[in-house]
Amino acid sequence: MSFELTLRLIEAVSATAAGTTTLVTVDGPDDVETARRWVEATGNTILTVHADSIEILRGRLADPLEALPPDRRPGYRLWIYTNFHCNLACDYCCVASSPTAERRIISVEDFAAILDEAVPAGIRELYLTGGEPFLLLDLDERLRLAVAVLPTTVLTNAMQWQGERLRRLDALPRDGLTLQISLDSATADLHDRHRGDGSFARAMKGIRTALDLGFRIRVAATLGPDAGASENELVGLFDELSLDEDQRVVRRIARQGAANAGLTMSRASLIPEVCLSAEGVWWHPVAAIDPAMKVSDTWFPLAKTIEAVQGEYRSHRIANDVLASTFPCA
Ligand code: SF4
Repeated sequence: MSFELTLRLIEAVSATAAGTTTLVTVDGPDDVETARRWVEATGNTILTVHADSIEILRGRLADPLEALPPDRRPGYRLWIYTNFHCNLACDYCCVASSPTAERRIISVEDFAAILDEAVPAGIRELYLTGGEPFLLLDLDERLRLAVAVLPTTVLTNAMQWQGERLRRLDALPRDGLTLQISLDSATADLHDRHRGDGSFARAMKGIRTALDLGFRIRVAATLGPDAGASENELVGLFDELSLDEDQRVVRRIARQGAANAGLTMSRASLIPEVCLSAEGVWWHPVAAIDPAMKVSDTWFPLAKTIEAVQGEYRSHRIANDVLASTFPCA
C-alpha cells in the first residue's frame, strides 16, 4: 500500500466529521484500489471515483441494494431486446420502433451465448422485448432455450399469431413462460389513438388466442396525460379477464424514443434493470436507445457488467442520501 496515499487518506478522513465527505487525490487505478481497501478496512465509504480524486464519506451507510426487494435488485432480471422492428409505430414508443426501424436482431446463437452467462451471473428471470419479438419467425427457438433455464416473459402486441407463427406459438411450453400483452385501454378509442387504427381489436383477439391456448398472460398498459378515466375501465377489463394482481401492469409514458413528453429518466433516478440489445448493455429497457443510459458496448463478461451496474446504483443512492442530509442552505 502506498505510504503517501495512506497518509493522505488518514489526514483527510480524520479531519472530516462523521457523515460528511472529503476529496482525496489519486493517481490512477492502483491508487483507487489501494484507497478502496483502506476505506473498507477503516469503516468508511467511497462515494464517487473521479479521474484524479475519490470522494470519501466518513462512516458506513447501509447497502442500498439490501433496501430493495430481492426481485427488484439489479441483476435479478435480465432484459433482452431480440429486435427493434415492429408492425406498429406507437407515438410514445420508448425505443422508436416501427416497420422501418433498423432491425438490430440478436441471433439464436448469440442469444444462447447470453443464456450461458446469465445463469452463472445470478440472473433469476428473463424478459424478452423489442420491437415486436414475434416478427422473428424463429423467436420460438429463443423462447425454448430461455424457458429451459429461467422463468421467461416475452412482451408482445399479440398481433402476429396467424399461420406458421400461430403453429409455433402453440408448440411452445406453457410452464415458465408468460406472454405480456400491451393493451392501453378497455375500448378502442385511446389505444388506437396512440397505436394505430384497428390495433385494439387485434390486441384483444391476441389476448383471447393466448388464453384459449392455455398461456399465462400479463396485460400491460402505458398511459399518457390523455388517459382520463381509462385506468378505472381497464381495471374492469382486467377483472373480466380474471387477471391476478401480478398479471396487471399500468405504467406512465416515459420521455424516451418517440415520446416527446412524459416521465424524465436518468441513471441517478431509475432503479436499473440490466438490459441487452444488439448494440450493448443498457441501464434499463425503457431507455435502450438513449446514449446517456448505455452501460457498455459489449455484453460479456455479463457478471462483471452486472456488478458495475450494482456499484453505480449504490453510488447514486448513497450520494443522494448524503446530499439530502448534508446540504443545509442556512
Ligand atoms: S410500443 Fe411496442 S408495439 Fe408500439 S411501436 Fe413500440 S415496440 Fe411496437
